[in-house]
Amino acid sequence: MLYTPSDLRQRHAFIDRGMEAFLDELHHPETKRALGELATGLTATAHTAFVANIEDGAITVPDEYAKHSDALAVVALRPGERLQTSHAFEIQTETQRHKTVNTFKKWGSLLPPESTYNRVFGVEDDGHRSTFGLNGTDPAMTGIAVTVLSERRITELFLDGPPSGVAFMKKRPLLILAMPKGKRAPEIDTIGHELTHVKQALQAPVTIITSQKASEMNQLRIELEAYHIGSIFYSLRLLNKKTRELSPVNSSDPGALQMYIEILRKEYDTDPNDPYKPSVLLMNAFKEKNLTHIIHSGADYDTFLSIIKQAEADEAACYDASNSEDS
Ligand SMILES: [Zn+2]
Repeated sequence: MLYTPSDLRQRHAFIDRGMEAFLDELHHPETKRALGELATGLTATAHTAFVANIEDGAITVPDEYAKHSDALAVVALRPGERLQTSHAFEIQTETQRHKTVNTFKKWGSLLPPESTYNRVFGVEDDGHRSTFGLNGTDPAMTGIAVTVLSERRITELFLDGPPSGVAFMKKRPLLILAMPKGKRAPEIDTIGHELTHVKQALQAPVTIITSQKASEMNQLRIELEAYHIGSIFYSLRLLNKKTRELSPVNSSDPGALQMYIEILRKEYDTDPNDPYKPSVLLMNAFKEKNLTHIIHSGADYDTFLSIIKQAEADEAACYDASNSEDS
């Protein structure tokens, strides 16, 4: 795939317009109010975004960013286009590595935590390159935050942590924005949703899944959080800043989905300490409203429902780094 200079400029301008609108929105008092403490983290992540170069079908990142910086690479792709990763996306950023090692420390790593890191994840970049892209036919596919995942089975490495399970290590996130013909800029709610996934990958770069059940639950949980943030930006997009009136919701707008999911989540939010917890009631509501496609899980709806039923009967064991202290 070869891009002409003018095509690259178009992609660059598309990303710039979206990120500028997003950062602009973050400065409004009503945005800050709506986001509460989440505003700071989102602003910080958005400020690190830069337009990555595409060379010979691969995303390139300047050497100085490759390991040490959390700077977020952003690319704009047309539906159906695919891209290959490069070295920077096949290793963790410095911060992710630091957090992963700290999590191992917290779990009572039997070996020095750095050695556990090397033992679990081995060679940092084995030369493998992953491919990412956008579904060419789904108009609701407005963007996607992706990370290369390393998956390793672990047994008895920690004193206080999970005894055995599958360790998932998330590497440097990449933000892909869909650039369909005629569209000038990505929507702010798309950026809000996807930046939430970026933040999740940076804040919880290692997850140990002790069962299939925990893994499915975790997937939906992170999705519900992203819809929560996306819905805030969607309603801000509908708000006329001068008249302070909301435009009507247009159901064919992909952003409306963010709102529908969030309304249902709030309605069935039964646990104040765990707002994104998947529940049987919420699943039933998704089914009734034909929204089950948001469950990005390997399992079909009925299997997923039975997993949640089981989880509601006994607490799911899922250890992740999201609550770990960073020092
Ligand atoms: Zn998502």
